[in-house]
Amino acid sequence: MQTILIQGGRVIDPSQGIDREADVYLDRGRVASIGAAPGSADVVIDARGMIVCPGLIDAHVHLREPGNEEDETIATGARAALAGGCTSVACMPNTRPAIDSQGAAEFVVLQARRARQANVFPVGAVSKGREGVELAELGQLVAGGAVAFTDDGAPVASASLMRRALQYAKMFDRCIMQHCQVLELTVGGVMNEGFESMKLGLGGMPAAAEDIMVARDIRLAEITGGRLHIQHISTERAVELVREGKRRGIDVTAEACPHHFTLTDERLRTFDSNYKMNPPLRTRPDVDAVIGGLRDGTIDLLATDHAPHAAEKKLRELDQAPFGIVGLETLIPIVALALIEPGHLTWSGAIRKLTVEPAKLLGIDKGTLRPGADADLTIIDPATPWTIDPSAFYSKSRNTPYAGWEVRARAHTAIVAGEVRYTLGGIVRESATRATP
Ligand SMILES: [Zn+2]
Ligand SMILES: [Zn+2]
Repeated sequence: MQTILIQGGRVIDPSQGIDREADVYLDRGRVASIGAAPGSADVVIDARGMIVCPGLIDAHVHLREPGNEEDETIATGARAALAGGCTSVACMPNTRPAIDSQGAAEFVVLQARRARQANVFPVGAVSKGREGVELAELGQLVAGGAVAFTDDGAPVASASLMRRALQYAKMFDRCIMQHCQVLELTVGGVMNEGFESMKLGLGGMPAAAEDIMVARDIRLAEITGGRLHIQHISTERAVELVREGKRRGIDVTAEACPHHFTLTDERLRTFDSNYKMNPPLRTRPDVDAVIGGLRDGTIDLLATDHAPHAAEKKLRELDQAPFGIVGLETLIPIVALALIEPGHLTWSGAIRKLTVEPAKLLGIDKGTLRPGADADLTIIDPATPWTIDPSAFYSKSRNTPYAGWEVRARAHTAIVAGEVRYTLGGIVRESATRATP
């Protein structure tokens, strides 16, 4: 196995409090050292002007296999992850059939291993068939490789099922990730309920549908002592509830997706289905509250909710089109544009929410460049301007609201298990030829 020397980059590893210029040396699939580089390596990467950090982890993606391979497969999704700078992703169980058994979880692990792209960690279903009635065999799912549980795509609607799920998952020290929504309040909804939905005459999904479920589940986490993770938080009140829950010592974490801190429901005036997601785009005060939650640590991590849909599905009438957008390949530039450039987060703060925090949430041994750690590493070009072009995506789907956006940062290189698996523009190949003897 090869040795890799990454020279002259700005190394940011929040797990060790590192943010300084240094060389990183990878040896036989492990991080060997930061700073004290040996004289030679099989591959030398010139990282001057770049950020070198632990491989990013996206704790919320949909890879659509099995069942909807026309939208994405485990292989194409894992490749899109690398192109977006994510060396590990956790995939949701709302496939067909659902990931609700040991065999289904093992299938995901096997397909990911075959693809040899980003690491893929399956998240198992909370309920059998994601039907919300009977608890899935959580222990068997863990044995099959599941790192957490959710019925995402839909909430666990039953309070008693949610209570039991929190209790059982605790025995495995795993979290329950919840898509927080009271379904009775969002029937027929297409977008956020409010002034814009009224004006456009479109079915609304009130913020209260999210707030109520967040409040219920925080209380259930409190009485069970279980681990609750709020997925794709989108409302002002929900952020406040998580803040208060943390203050009271309840084991609750939350994630925010780039669309919920960059876009508002006014975008729906275009009737473009690339602005249709669930939870929906909210209002300016909600966007500001999500940013505030990211700033003060109420929101622990950044995740994409990468939700690929083939073009013909998203081209349907707005009320017929499926919810969701792809997110992996726009993660870094949108985080840089919306959070780092305006000063809401530093690079180190943002990278923390994409490395240490998701690793902790998922209970995986990743997200660090400590000597001996897996050699999963991302190199980010933080400065070169580029334009987001969905036709260049590695994802099978192109449903993004960010087409044509002028941005700066992007993933430059992704290394998994000590192998350079993605690089932009062949720059690594050039460097490799300069490898010292
Ligand atoms: Zn969801
Ligand atoms: Zn989702």
